[in-house]
Amino acid sequence: TGGLTDSAVKGSSEAYERACQVLPGGVTANIKYFAPHPIVMKRACGSKLFDVDGHAYIDYMLCYGALITGHGHPRVLQAITDQMKEIGTTVFGTPHELEAELAEKLTDFYPGVDMVRFTNSGLEATLLAIRIAKAFTGKEKIAKFEGHYHGGYNQVLFSVHPDLNRAGESDHPTPVPESTGMSAHDRTQTVILPFNNLEATERLLRRHADELAAVILEPVQGGFIPAELDFIHGLRKVTEELNIVLIFDEVKTGFRVSLGGAQKVYGVKPDLTALGKVLGGGFPIGAVGGKKEMMQMTDPRRGRDILSAVHSESDETDVLFHSGTYNGHPIVLAAGLATIRILEEKGTLDDLSAKTERLRRMLEEVYLRYGVPMQTLGWGSIFNIVLTNRPVKNYRDMHQDNQALRKALDYELLRLGIYVKPLNRYSMSTAHVEADIERTVEAHESALKKIVPR
Ligand code: PMP
Repeated sequence: TGGLTDSAVKGSSEAYERACQVLPGGVTANIKYFAPHPIVMKRACGSKLFDVDGHAYIDYMLCYGALITGHGHPRVLQAITDQMKEIGTTVFGTPHELEAELAEKLTDFYPGVDMVRFTNSGLEATLLAIRIAKAFTGKEKIAKFEGHYHGGYNQVLFSVHPDLNRAGESDHPTPVPESTGMSAHDRTQTVILPFNNLEATERLLRRHADELAAVILEPVQGGFIPAELDFIHGLRKVTEELNIVLIFDEVKTGFRVSLGGAQKVYGVKPDLTALGKVLGGGFPIGAVGGKKEMMQMTDPRRGRDILSAVHSESDETDVLFHSGTYNGHPIVLAAGLATIRILEEKGTLDDLSAKTERLRRMLEEVYLRYGVPMQTLGWGSIFNIVLTNRPVKNYRDMHQDNQALRKALDYELLRLGIYVKPLNRYSMSTAHVEADIERTVEAHESALKKIVPR
């Protein structure tokens, strides 16, 4: 693999070696690693990343999709500095006015959101949503879909990208842990469902209905495989019937598919919604929103809560615990609000989607010319390149693609200044300009010319 070992990335290689002495694998998150060593960045601007060796890259990773307005958008930077000047500090740890202001935006945009709690990451958002679902239903297990990611804690860390030899039948997948250090008990708490297969999903949900507190899903798997319309409406119907809380994890799709996420466009109202990424304008954030009666379980006025010094007469702990030192961080919320204000301007999201669509069509045309089976899959401003002509509706379909060729192309693209983490999806920003698109298409053509013998 690779070929990034040449002298061109000497600085990255040396920085990585140094990091390896004190950071396991030289990284602070496993996802940052790729062989032979990741590229170490120095600065960024708009659609570009610049590495420690001075190379520029057009960034299609955009911090895993968080940076919808690109790196260092002047209005986002301004909002951060203005906010610090205005409040005279970095954080209060007490309520402040921006919390309700941003929450109001979410209740306006998201059909399934009546009330909101902020967290510090997408992971914390899905974690809180699941706890609310358990408390609300009095049930303990959850169901998730094969190939869907919701964060790195035990109950959802199954079958995100499982080895298919261990993953069971396609219409009855077995949970495959994504980490060591999980217990056998964890495996019994999560039911795995096949995405975009309503019949099998419904059968499994009916079988486990008495134990299932929630079904959680990415309405668009990985941000690029949309749920089929019948599937997502069918899922809403059956979860309602079976008293299972439906959680949409819109951490990727939120503010990208539309200002109101995928739920707005599908016309489906989930019970709870998890948000993150774009919402923080590049700072760590998450949020849970949902039905009033479910969200109110976290209301400290309900009864005894260990941190808020509220005691009910019965002195029972019947408040759902949710706290965090940095929740509703005023600088983070200011960056998020500035980002949302940019997206709210007429045509911004439509233009971004149209630009993404244009890039996809141009890439498809190049691969066709080189006789490489390929399709782009996606929605809004996120897409992926899949090297197969067969229909792709879920995780197992994705595995029919030519991963070896995709990897070889991705490494060549890195050398040509296109930043996509090998095998990962593409995210676009409002900062990507026409010249970026042209250069990206040219780079793909060069990579194909080099790697695919004609
Ligand atoms: N859910 C989804 C759909 C995500 O894409 C992610 C992050 N990639 C998460 C949850 C977790 O978010 P975070 O990394 O902010 O904890």
